[in-house]
Amino acid sequence: MRTLVEGARLVVPMDDARSRWPGGFVVLEDDRIVQAGPGPVPADVVADRRIDASGKVVLPGFVNTHHHLPQVLTRNVPRVQEAPLFRWLTELYPVWRGWDAAAVETAASVGLAELLLTGCTTTTDHLYLFPRGQELLIDAEIAAARGLGIRFHPTRGSMSRGRSQGGLPPDDVCQDEATILADCRRLIREYHDPRPRAMTRIALAPCAPFSVSDDLMRRTADLARENGVRLHTHLAETKDEEDYCLETYGCRPVEYVRRLGWLGPDVWLAHCVHLDADEVRLFAETGTGVAHCPTSNFRLGSGLAPVRALLDAGAPVGLGVDGSASNDSSNMLAECRQALLAHRPGADPSRWLTAEDVLWAATRGGARCLGRDDVGSLEPGKAADLVLIDTRRLSYAGGSSDILAALVFTPWPEPVDTVIVNGTVVVEDGRISSLDVAALVDCADAISEGLLRSASRATGIDYLAKDRR
Ligand SMILES: [Zn+2]
Repeated sequence: MRTLVEGARLVVPMDDARSRWPGGFVVLEDDRIVQAGPGPVPADVVADRRIDASGKVVLPGFVNTHHHLPQVLTRNVPRVQEAPLFRWLTELYPVWRGWDAAAVETAASVGLAELLLTGCTTTTDHLYLFPRGQELLIDAEIAAARGLGIRFHPTRGSMSRGRSQGGLPPDDVCQDEATILADCRRLIREYHDPRPRAMTRIALAPCAPFSVSDDLMRRTADLARENGVRLHTHLAETKDEEDYCLETYGCRPVEYVRRLGWLGPDVWLAHCVHLDADEVRLFAETGTGVAHCPTSNFRLGSGLAPVRALLDAGAPVGLGVDGSASNDSSNMLAECRQALLAHRPGADPSRWLTAEDVLWAATRGGARCLGRDDVGSLEPGKAADLVLIDTRRLSYAGGSSDILAALVFTPWPEPVDTVIVNGTVVVEDGRISSLDVAALVDCADAISEGLLRSASRATGIDYLAKDRR
């Protein structure tokens, strides 16, 4: 099947030359791009299907580098609306303890649909809390991703060090290390696809320095490297974490993971808010990636990652919406705008992020974090992952002096108009045709309320707002 996307207002391939092609076109052959360039379309191009992109900007699909999809079920919980990370986690663990595969599949469908409708074609997820008897939660997420047609990199998270061993989570949401490693092996065996344009890849992702043991960090890294899969975790998110590492390990978080073999081109780390200049250099030297999650970092009062310094040093930087209990959305265009604005207050204008910096992070930077050289740009041989955004909207009117920048400076359109993943049109006219949004929202709300009510009963803490008790 040969598809021609033609007559675009602007094609922005995100190639190394940073090209912009007014009137441009893209030709797809099944799951890959075979040709792209400025208009007009060469006379010898024949197509089975033509997509009219007039008035639209065409970009490579965005790559989301950090998420916790099940947290969709615990958005804006009143009890933790004003909580910083450690209290937020401690109060939410008893709620998360109640989720099962059906709940996770519903939450994943919500989050993944939001990502698609805001132009994201590849996303990761980090699931680290497995209630007793609930081993197949990542399988449920993969089912949701396959149902929607988004490219998916779930990471097998883990927590092994509960309160009785000096960790943060309650013991009953931790798993023993043999169980964790066995399930990592199972997921790699069943789902990891190393081939070009793969739709599913697994990575391994212990939760954070305050919830797993050194030994599990080391053994996870060994297992990942034996199997050619990537490593992910949270790092240097808050000052509390820094204090915890100094007290527990006698060093800062980056030094802690460095000693464990957790820096390198096969590792990407979420947040990295509290890095000093030497640590920024170390990330660049080792090729360690950063998932920048500005909305979540603001929401939890964690701080702001030194992204300009990381970019200047040459470290890989992608964008992440982070979990929906600390964002509280999965909107990639909103995250782009947040990243654009976040680095400005109090900083010299020469250090601000530009709209192009942000779009680069959302495409090429994210692809680099996930170890993918086949997504993130519109070039021959790459996967056919495209987003088309109609610029004939009131919010873009008058912004034609730089219509690409308008996509980031202007509050986001939701939904975008067309999204193609691996050659398949999954969003058309701003809709996912297979999705009954109202039914899905009702289902997510019912599950959410059930989780919050049972956590309230179990803990004596009121998780619902006054008018819902
Ligand atoms: Zn996270």
